[in-house]
Amino acid sequence: MAESAMESVRVVKSATCGRGLVFTSKFARGQCILEELPYAYTLQDDKRGRYCEFCLKKCSTLKKCSSCHYASYCNKSCQRGDWARCHKQDCKTLKRIHPLPYSHVVQLLSHIIHKQKRSPPCIQDDEDCFPTTVDQLESHHEKLSDTRRKDFETLLFSLKYYEDDVLPEPSTLLKMFGATICNSLSIMNNDLNVIAVGMYLRASMLNHSCDPNCAWVSDGRKIQIMTVKDVKEGEECTITYVDVMDPAKVRQADLKERYHFTCKCVKCIEEINALGPDDGLGEEFRDLKKSLEQIRDAENSQDILRCHLKFIVVYNDYTCQ
Ligand SMILES: [Zn+2]
Ligand SMILES: [Zn+2]
Ligand SMILES: [Zn+2]
Repeated sequence: MAESAMESVRVVKSATCGRGLVFTSKFARGQCILEELPYAYTLQDDKRGRYCEFCLKKCSTLKKCSSCHYASYCNKSCQRGDWARCHKQDCKTLKRIHPLPYSHVVQLLSHIIHKQKRSPPCIQDDEDCFPTTVDQLESHHEKLSDTRRKDFETLLFSLKYYEDDVLPEPSTLLKMFGATICNSLSIMNNDLNVIAVGMYLRASMLNHSCDPNCAWVSDGRKIQIMTVKDVKEGEECTITYVDVMDPAKVRQADLKERYHFTCKCVKCIEEINALGPDDGLGEEFRDLKKSLEQIRDAENSQDILRCHLKFIVVYNDYTCQ
């Protein structure tokens, strides 16, 4: 591991990608440059009863909470840790809503709401500092798709029913929801199966690349950001937000839907430029592109006029689709 994870990376403000992290010195491949415990996390619904709710380790002798008979722990120490973290509140809710399920997505938002209430308000929001609360993260809530907005309405309905405390304003909740979509990380077991979802405030500063120089690994609830290449001082630290094995068009669609940006990394540009005639753009769009290229390449005024007239015909065909 690097001398001090705190000093291995620093926050920078970029003109195009909001905030990001850069390396404070060179590192060889395979070094840990950031280690972090989650701000909030929840075990996935289908993993309940097989993994400890607190340490997220798999255990065959889990003991259920004797009060709600829902959350399970590997030992007393994990149970105490979870009681202080969130279960004091969750236990009351679970008993009240029984036998309704408590989805991990609703639970994650509930944990964030309660944690924000307990934390002192953030008085400074320096752009070159690590965030200390969820409010300081990007949320892109105004760009959420119709499907995501519908998901939010359902979630809001559940929260209103489940929570006995006064909830923050719906606009604040929508911002929190947006922040969880674009900043949460999957927590994986040793077989790389997703077992939980977590919000890591420092790691959320990492920007995306389809050819990243870092990757995250989970050890229970703790994550480590490891270099996967030799890196230089001042270079931006990146992870991938999507499956890099997917074709560029699929990656770009995923990034646009969940993170609201179009990736312009070298890998995307090269892959898209190399697309053949079956690139899925459609015959009309390709004709339009060709016709524009002909205008650019036309040598005399007569040719330019002819190409312009052809362009108008092709353009009309294209827009009438
Ligand atoms: Zn445990
Ligand atoms: Zn309980
Ligand atoms: Zn890319």
